[in-house]
Amino acid sequence: MSLTLTDVSDLTEEQARETFERIRWPNGPICPHCGSVEAIRLEWKPETWKPETELKTGKRRAHRVGLHKCHGCGEQFSSTTGTILEQSHLPIRTWLMAFAILCSAKKGVSALQLQRQLGLGSYRAAWHLCHRIRHAMSREPLAGLLGQGGGTVEVDEAYIGGKPRHPQGPSKGPKHSRRGRGTKKTPVVALVERDGRARAWPVKHVDSATLKTAIREHVDPSARIVTDELNVYQGIGAEFKGGHETVNHSEREYARGDVNTNTIEGFFALLKRGVYGSFHHVSPQHLHRYCHEFSFRWDLRKVTDSERTIEAIKGGEGKRLMYRNPIAK
Ligand SMILES: [Zn+2]
Repeated sequence: MSLTLTDVSDLTEEQARETFERIRWPNGPICPHCGSVEAIRLEWKPETWKPETELKTGKRRAHRVGLHKCHGCGEQFSSTTGTILEQSHLPIRTWLMAFAILCSAKKGVSALQLQRQLGLGSYRAAWHLCHRIRHAMSREPLAGLLGQGGGTVEVDEAYIGGKPRHPQGPSKGPKHSRRGRGTKKTPVVALVERDGRARAWPVKHVDSATLKTAIREHVDPSARIVTDELNVYQGIGAEFKGGHETVNHSEREYARGDVNTNTIEGFFALLKRGVYGSFHHVSPQHLHRYCHEFSFRWDLRKVTDSERTIEAIKGGEGKRLMYRNPIAK
């Protein structure tokens, strides 16, 4: 199965549904209500459906496309029940295209761009779509600790948000927004495995308790930790077999052998380019979803766009109740 943007745009809605079903249920339908595999697909026969009957009885048409009936519990369900696609009014094909677009754009895609590309009626619909897909890209924190088997994990924080630094070119416009601590930007902590995966999320404060908790919750005890010399990390080395090494950035010491934070700097560079280049403005309450999106693409940077898209679609399983009505400002 290939799910590049070109592949998806060639699909009819019927084929898009079949594709979605194959991804969700590679071994046949599973009832989302009771877990039974004894389900049959209800065929919808358009020729037998009469709108008059529906109006008279007040019932929705009995056999919607893609509807299944479970023999275990007797409930009906469709392939989108219990996923982020549930209750969406958009065609499945549109969803798959949006997945393909977000999974292949290294620097991210703005809702406006997605709206234009998919011909969506409203910015709001595009905005919701983007955020639901970001949610599908989020992973459980305990889905594998970082640095297993004595790997190296780089930990750092960055300050993200506010206005772009060069609004109208470096020499024009308002003064560049300030960087770093003490500004209105939101601190984001990231943990990046060398040659591996990344985890990133916004935090309230960059203090010792926050950063050490982050490390303890996400890093395997066998790992080696590399950070800058910020003293909030002090003492963490004793808890990890590989110890803790630091890079002194203030003295322009960027690397000492393999003690460097180049990997995590690459990760933050990508996230910042996305936030300032593609999204222009990201409000603090939504920043965590952008972090999910960039970590997801980072973790799967070595697979094809199609494989990444399929992974993201699978991630939409069981994530229906995600957030209350996010409103873009
Ligand atoms: Zn059932």
